[in-house]
Amino acid sequence: MAAMYSDRALVIGAGFAGLLAARVLSESYGDVVLVERDTITTDTGHRAGVPSAHHRHPLPARGAQALESLFPRIVRELENAGAVRADLGSDCLTHFPAGPAPRDHLGLDVLSVTRVTLDRIIRRRVLRLANVSLVDGVTVNGLLHDRGTVTGVHGRRGDRPFTDYADLVVDASGRDSKLVSWLAELGVHCPAPRIVRGHLTCSSRLYEVNRDLELDWKNACEPTHAPGKTRGGSMSSVDGSRWLVTLFGDAAPADDDGFLDHARSLRCQDIAEVVKTATPASAIHHAGTARNRWNRFHEVADWPRGLLALGDSVVSLDPVHGHGLTVTAVNCADLRELLREHDLAGEPLVFQRAVAKAARFPWTFATTADLGRGTRKLPLPGRLLRWYSGLVLGAIPGDRRVYRAYVRVSQLAARPAALFSPAVLVRVLLGRTLSGRRPRATAP
Ligand SMILES: Cc1cc2nc3c(=O)[nH]c(=O)nc-3n(C[C@H](O)[C@H](O)[C@H](O)COP(=O)(O)OP(=O)(O)OC[C@H]3O[C@@H](n4cnc5c(N)ncnc54)[C@H](O)[C@@H]3O)c2cc1C
Repeated sequence: MAAMYSDRALVIGAGFAGLLAARVLSESYGDVVLVERDTITTDTGHRAGVPSAHHRHPLPARGAQALESLFPRIVRELENAGAVRADLGSDCLTHFPAGPAPRDHLGLDVLSVTRVTLDRIIRRRVLRLANVSLVDGVTVNGLLHDRGTVTGVHGRRGDRPFTDYADLVVDASGRDSKLVSWLAELGVHCPAPRIVRGHLTCSSRLYEVNRDLELDWKNACEPTHAPGKTRGGSMSSVDGSRWLVTLFGDAAPADDDGFLDHARSLRCQDIAEVVKTATPASAIHHAGTARNRWNRFHEVADWPRGLLALGDSVVSLDPVHGHGLTVTAVNCADLRELLREHDLAGEPLVFQRAVAKAARFPWTFATTADLGRGTRKLPLPGRLLRWYSGLVLGAIPGDRRVYRAYVRVSQLAARPAALFSPAVLVRVLLGRTLSGRRPRATAP
């Protein structure tokens, strides 16, 4: 049972993090207001505030579970709206450098859905809550405060000034959040964020797939792998009849011919085979390289009362690894848990420490890959990790158990230690001999 703390909470940004946070806060605050820069209507599709929505946003099991715990039966509702649930073994073609992953049933799902559908359905659920409201068309420009406590926000709505007051303000304004400078205006200085440059770009397009093709898969994927494998791609059934193709590379393609050529250059030829006869259902959308950035708010000793931050505003990751939504969903599950025990407006660092804890492994996962692609030499632990993950990828084609461990870790459903358990370690190091199976042939 959640504790009721005080009257009013205000959330900056009605993206994925803001919506989930509002849902959680509605259990502890009498009135929750979401303040959003974009104009939102019931059928809002793509919007300026979430440019990433053109690209793939699969939701792995851990993210889906966290979402389901906040919104019972939401996975079913998403499926009714066209989202496709796929077993990562039997329903997916996944090509690694040493060959395709086993196709046995793994019992680990991923939910493929467009970001627009995901946000629309969550938003509908949140705005149905009697004590949650949305004020849109407002750009927040700073925080109001009183002797070390944040008391509200100020900004602009069109050409008019906007101010609003709350007992708790939550920053969920995403990877371009200005929170660090807003805090500096209050005299609170944050340590320099950790920044690691990403190296890959991506291009995405929706397709209507030729119905005569009898596909025995719902997802096809060829992951990239540092340092050398910079080309990759994925194709997933999303939103009923439409399929979303996202291609990764040093310079992901921007036109029709380049798109098909890039798909043809992958080992996973199935993507090109389907794209060849499919009908484009959108333009090609390109996203440039994205950096990994971690604002270390949990280290700010004079962090003001009445203020929390979560989602990409704290940790934004290179999207090539697909962890942003899951980390955000975990932040919101932690928020719910901690609100049962703490008045977080008075003890905000309790929450910021939980956000930092949830970020640790996804940060290492993303930055070890990205540092490995850069010109700087990786420190020894990073080099060992890269060497071992190369062995894991090499063992996957012939070994369902290693693949399952890899999927669980890479989808944030298990700790990295799962890849070093004796059973997996032995299979990885001695793979073929012990499993008695040879890896399948590597595609050209
Ligand atoms: C190209 C790309 C591909 C990605 N692919 C994946 C993927 O496959 N899987 C995955 O899990 N994650 C992926 N991500 C990451 C994922 O999109 C983010 O982790 C997620 O959007 C974070 O949600 P958020 O609510 O913190 O931020 P956002 O979704 O960015 O929402 C921020 C909201 O705040 C609003 N806002 C911003 N500033 C203000 C202001 N001053 N005043 C009022 N409102 C404001 C914005 O309009 C927006 O609505 C991808 C990201 C990119 C860029």
